[in-house]
Amino acid sequence: MDYRKKLVVEPGSKVRLSKIDPSYSGEHESHEKALPEIQANVERMDKLQYLLYADGSQSLLVVLQALDAAGKDGVIRHVFSGMNPQGTFVFGFKQPSKDEAAHDFLWRAHLRTPEKGEVVVFNRSHYEDVLVVRVHKLVERRVWSKRYDLINDFEKILIQNRTTILKFFLHISPEEQLARFKQRLDDPSRHWKISESDYSERELWPQYVEAYEDAVALTSTKRAPWYIIPANHKWFRNLAVSQIVADTMDEMGLKLPPTRVNIADISRKYHAAARAKTGKGKGRTKEAVKAE
Ligand code: ATP
Ligand code: MG
Repeated sequence: MDYRKKLVVEPGSKVRLSKIDPSYSGEHESHEKALPEIQANVERMDKLQYLLYADGSQSLLVVLQALDAAGKDGVIRHVFSGMNPQGTFVFGFKQPSKDEAAHDFLWRAHLRTPEKGEVVVFNRSHYEDVLVVRVHKLVERRVWSKRYDLINDFEKILIQNRTTILKFFLHISPEEQLARFKQRLDDPSRHWKISESDYSERELWPQYVEAYEDAVALTSTKRAPWYIIPANHKWFRNLAVSQIVADTMDEMGLKLPPTRVNIADISRKYHAAARAKTGKGKGRTKEAVKAE
């Protein structure tokens, strides 16, 4: 199944989250059955990230948005952990610091966008400024309502600078969220994750749904699409995200840069000389020399 086609939000389309089943798991039956595919995708991502880094002319920005306990951290841990930390960065966006709040809302996001050759994952993002900010009325409607266009323009700048953008909304049900909060209560090693605001935010679920539906519908573009990922099953979430990232990177046209030296010359000059010096390789088969 091509989850890019299945889960993408078509530009200009209306989004009704209540019509999308958060427990959807495609044609896959279980975690065990999906695991080989997830692992294959994660390996592809690793190889493609190496190529992106070597190529050095493009970058990838992944935006993760979700309500609490939907699995942003899980995606980072299980899907992006295959990539080399040299060249892969994760930034979390919390309540703006004094410095951040003194600038326009896109400033702190722009500071963190990937350099050429890099992958950057936003754990929450500039979208919070049309989500939590809207739900909690932190600014007036006339301010947040103009931000969708500003976000689209901002992302256009990044795209023109050869950044590929992928945006994921992890979609869980309120029941699944409550079950996950309960699991945290039952596990002392996860007590530190619990905050009372997680529970009070649940009461604003319909307002968040409305804000997400607008944000996703108004900013899903051909070059910076949103994907709504059914996330009640953690393994399906990982499968879909890893497949979409790997398939997208596959189509970025990444290439190893041309060799800057004459390989035959270098090989003769340094390696043949070294062999002669140590006497290694004399009278041996090629395989024996290779094995040394
Ligand atoms: P976890 O899954 O561990 O709870 P988290 O991303 O929810 O991770 P928290 O420290 O719990 O991290 O919450 C960060 C909070 O900061 C979120 O409630 C988010 O909505 C809020 N936040 C992010 N950006 C903004 C913003 N621009 N204005 C106001 N609040 C923001
Ligand atoms: Mg939180």
